Amino acid sequence: MGLLEDLINRSGSNCELCGATANFSTYEVPPVSSGGLDGSLLVCDTCKNQIENPGAMDANHWRCLNDSMWSEHNPVKVIAWRMLSRLKSEGWTQDLLDMMYLEDETLNWAKATGEGLLESDKIIHRDVNGVILENGDNVVLIKDLKVKGSSMIAKQGTPVRRISLDKENAEYIEGKVGAQQIVIITKYVKKT
Ligand SMILES: [Zn+2]
Repeated sequence: MGLLEDLINRSGSNCELCGATANFSTYEVPPVSSGGLDGSLLVCDTCKNQIENPGAMDANHWRCLNDSMWSEHNPVKVIAWRMLSRLKSEGWTQDLLDMMYLEDETLNWAKATGEGLLESDKIIHRDVNGVILENGDNVVLIKDLKVKGSSMIAKQGTPVRRISLDKENAEYIEGKVGAQQIVIITKYVKKT
């Protein structure tokens, strides 16, 4: 059997998002390499069109997620999460997102396309002058800093090479001072 037939069997001939009973196609959840049953879902034309065209979103159509977000199938959960995230300004979608539970691995998959992230939500590290810092940049300290967990003081002007950014906190970077790997607050460094 082909993927479409497998999905029709799995879903009982319903769009796995809105329950529509006609105009099906398969939707491979990006980014996937293998596709297949565990990476795909059965969707109707209406759902597919809106998934692929964020500008065509009809928020009311997605009230269907109230039911389909409870699917036992990960590809369905992932798309439900992404559509709710895309519509998070609607308010009701946030309530559903709060109720939704995804395993870590599935949540990472759902987040993999950056869906629902506003530019302002992205974590951006900036130095004392507001210059954006990136992994691998070199910076200097702009004041003497006590190194946590040691008696060392890193002096103002000390170079810190090849910094790495804290993925979860825009205020922290890590880098080496001498042989020591230290955590530094971004407002105390200047990019060089
Ligand atoms: Zn549908």
